[in-house]
Amino acid sequence: MNLSEERLAHFAEKLRLPDVPALVPPLAQEAAEREWSFADFAEALLQAQSDASDARACDTLQRLAGFPARKSIEEFDFSFQQSINKKQVTELASCAFVERAENVILLGPPGVGKTHLAIALGVEASRRRLSVKFTTAARLVASLAEARTAGTFSRRLMGFVRPSLLIVDEVGFLPLDAGEASLLFEVVCRRYERSSIVLTSNKSYGEWGEVFSGDTVIATAILDRLLHHSTTISIKGESYRLKDKKKAGIVTVPAR
Ligand code: ADP
Ligand code: MG
Repeated sequence: MNLSEERLAHFAEKLRLPDVPALVPPLAQEAAEREWSFADFAEALLQAQSDASDARACDTLQRLAGFPARKSIEEFDFSFQQSINKKQVTELASCAFVERAENVILLGPPGVGKTHLAIALGVEASRRRLSVKFTTAARLVASLAEARTAGTFSRRLMGFVRPSLLIVDEVGFLPLDAGEASLLFEVVCRRYERSSIVLTSNKSYGEWGEVFSGDTVIATAILDRLLHHSTTISIKGESYRLKDKKKAGIVTVPAR
């Protein structure tokens, strides 16, 4: 490293612009070739550093979120799922609902894209530097129950309360007993009107009593808070997982 490179590295570190030393040589060459003004060069350099910082923050947020797979809105085939209003989902993807601490509830049978859309909304939030946590209802209650036994409940609870967006997938897959339901209730209460939840369920609201083992009081209390400021997307139609198999005649789905 020559003296000027050393000084650049020093200031880049001091000002927390970690990519500047690596960005300068290629941009300086480009500036010379294209006869950029000094102002153009300065702008290009800061733009490149800003993009690199955004990409790094987004990567970190996505890693911390714990998504089970990478899914995006762009990958979602709206023409296959006619029951979904593309405009509504596009509006949700702007993440204004997260800024407003509102909830999104995705309902529908297996394979219609609930988890895909939930992750995609989480990815959009992380692109806007909002913190996200992905979990399933079963994992959330198991984690909190374990923490209660271990005496670390408050800290664990904060892990579900602090992120700007909490995604709770698969509510209703397994019925929750009274103790488990109260743990979910705790999380919903703590986030109510403060931060957003995206929740998916294979059960319609009318069936939520069953999800909570017949306890309609807690089911109603949870739904009341979840739905107060919320958008529900009810997805109908066929499983995307089975579409190719059905085309090939491997499975037949009974008419309902
Ligand atoms: P659900 O959570 O409703 O059971 P998933 O979101 O897990 O369904 O979807 C099942 C699989 O099908 C996933 O790999 C998902 O990416 C894909 N998928 C579902 N619907 C669509 C769609 N409309 N366009 C593209 N991929 C889809
Ligand atoms: Mg799913």
